Amino acid sequence: MVTQTIDRSQVERLVRQMLSDRQAPQESRQIRPERHNGGPNPLLVNVSARHAHVCQSDLETLFGPGARLSKLKDLYQQGEFASEQTVNLVGPRSRLIPGVRILGPVRDYTQVELSYTDGVYMGIQLPLRISGNHENTPGCVLVGPHGVLDLRQGVIRAERHVHMGPDDLGHYGVSDGDYMKLRIEGPCGMIFDRVKVREHPRVKLEVHIDTDEGNACDLGSATRMELTR
Ligand SMILES: [Zn+2]
Repeated sequence: MVTQTIDRSQVERLVRQMLSDRQAPQESRQIRPERHNGGPNPLLVNVSARHAHVCQSDLETLFGPGARLSKLKDLYQQGEFASEQTVNLVGPRSRLIPGVRILGPVRDYTQVELSYTDGVYMGIQLPLRISGNHENTPGCVLVGPHGVLDLRQGVIRAERHVHMGPDDLGHYGVSDGDYMKLRIEGPCGMIFDRVKVREHPRVKLEVHIDTDEGNACDLGSATRMELTR
């Protein structure tokens, strides 16, 4: 009698193969045409698809000792990039999200940013947070080609925000932490309240919304955008 056994490492290898064969459903952060807003800089509104940031030690857990993020493409903000590396997420109900892209450069912490739609699918109650605030946030499992990371906290839905340098803060008359309104005109036009101002001295003016928000206003068909206090 022939018996066939399959061990855990074979299962893991098969799952990884299956997942890596699938195309990631969304790319991170599409750059859209510039919209002039009467200020010192053009107003850009970009959608952040689900993505992860990683610290060096977690990167090595997932991709092997000495792993480095390799650049797939630059993002709009200087020095930031979509990496070639992706991970698979596993939630508490064993639901999978494959091909979640890591955005570089490496950070001091590991963080996963998902939409509420992703959270419902995964069975994770996502807290609404500004990047880096991980107090009382849930975790999930990240599966890379080299290893598995059981992230204890750092899974969030990013609070919508606008990156601003000093010139734009002056133009709009706002300061770091203030909330603004973003008006999107077009067939699915709408006004977003509570767009949080995030100041950085060397940043380019850019609004980040997630895929739920981008789809709700059908950003691709927008004819005009405006940021107001
Ligand atoms: Zn941002």
